[in-house]
Amino acid sequence: MTSTNGTATGVRDLVGVGFGPANLALAVALEEHEGPPLDALFLEKRPRLAWHPGMLLEDATMQVSFLKDLATLRNPRSAFSFLSYLHDRGRLVDFINHKEFFPSRVEFHDYLDWAAGHVAHRVRYDTAAVAVRPVTEAQTVVAFDVVTREADGGERTERARNIVLGTGLVPRMPEGVARSERVWHSEELLPRIEELTGPPPASFAVVGAGQSAAEVAAHLHSRFPDSRIDALLPSYGYSPSDDSPFANRVFDPEAVDHFYDAVPAVRERFYEQHGNTNYAVVDLDLINELYRRSYQESVRGTRRLHFWPMCRVEGADSGPDGVRLRVNRLLEDRSTELDAGIAVFATGYHPMDAASLLGPAAELCKRDSAGRLRVSREYRVETSADVTAGIYLQGGIEHTHGISASLLSNIAVRAGEIVTSLAAGVRQIP
Ligand SMILES: Cc1cc2nc3c(=O)[nH]c(=O)nc-3n(C[C@H](O)[C@H](O)[C@H](O)COP(=O)(O)OP(=O)(O)OC[C@H]3O[C@@H](n4cnc5c(N)ncnc54)[C@H](O)[C@@H]3O)c2cc1C
Repeated sequence: MTSTNGTATGVRDLVGVGFGPANLALAVALEEHEGPPLDALFLEKRPRLAWHPGMLLEDATMQVSFLKDLATLRNPRSAFSFLSYLHDRGRLVDFINHKEFFPSRVEFHDYLDWAAGHVAHRVRYDTAAVAVRPVTEAQTVVAFDVVTREADGGERTERARNIVLGTGLVPRMPEGVARSERVWHSEELLPRIEELTGPPPASFAVVGAGQSAAEVAAHLHSRFPDSRIDALLPSYGYSPSDDSPFANRVFDPEAVDHFYDAVPAVRERFYEQHGNTNYAVVDLDLINELYRRSYQESVRGTRRLHFWPMCRVEGADSGPDGVRLRVNRLLEDRSTELDAGIAVFATGYHPMDAASLLGPAAELCKRDSAGRLRVSREYRVETSADVTAGIYLQGGIEHTHGISASLLSNIAVRAGEIVTSLAAGVRQIP
């Protein structure tokens, strides 16, 4: 199927780029697909499956029910469900006694790893996709070559009639702030902490007011009992995520249809009304825990956890021993400086960036009036008439498929829909 000298010798039905939960769910759906098997290979740049490893904090829990696993909503009888995993690990009864709808992220990671082990024949790890090149026959783009960089530094090419991009969210830093040894994004928290040598930093600044920011502040506060923590919030305080039953419907499979079929103004309204189910919000238990810790410190008169409301960080100058942040304190309408040993920016993520990987192949894609990719309900990018090869997206589709686009809630159903679309396309090939 592939050669190591940079040329492709065969054509697969599908090459998936990235092997996080989204493309793992797709591999599972392919495994369970009834009908002629599809020849699929997934490429993952990491040496093994790793789900946000830098934030795999001991106490962190899932923000979604365990029933929204890789398969259950598509196939409740699946052998790849979270319940099957628990059974396999001998913990099913213990889990039931635990009465927990939202398992720890550590346990869910172990579940994903377990599932990935069962579809290992479909994945090549240590393989980064670096470019996508259209393959043209008789003036029609019939396939794509996915160019990869392998662990040994060599290049290979995988040719496929369809590609599915599932490369995940892209960490966001505030404008004017660059990462350094002293300035981290939350995605790299745990490995960075492991690399610290010498005495712990005297202080940490944590920038942001979403779930990751609150988790980072709580983690650093526990892990470094002699360090000061300055939480710089863009808001007046942490706001709770709305996970109440009616609001939660925004993550239902049916909501994808409602969003997709809505006119632009109504799509916007989804985000206005229900952004607080996901964006810049924090689990209420964690908010209460942070407040409890802060209050206890004020009772004891030993404060080291500080919250600074309405702050905008406008710059960060790293030195050998620490970082000086330029902070616009909006309440006082003035700029100040804050010194910290380390600054952690939990400032969120951009949606998946399909265009940068597609490179020149992005020219084949149709765009809406705002310049965003046009994507069919089946997650296939609309392309010009001279393209028969398919580009499917598992991410970067917040504008067409709604709030669950980058989340776990809908990955099982979405994977099934993509497999149905792929299988229909493959059947049409003479
Ligand atoms: C800390 C954290 C916690 C979260 N918790 C939840 C939660 O509880 N519930 C929820 O619904 N959502 C949660 N999310 C949202 C998150 O987007 C999803 O959980 C999930 O990771 C989406 O899966 P994915 O496969 O689309 O992307 P990812 O998990 O990001 O996986 C993408 C994969 O693609 C690989 N990759 C990227 N580029 C390339 C390339 N060029 N070549 C090869 N491989 C590549 C990456 O290495 C990665 O393994 C969380 C996000 C974060 C940051």
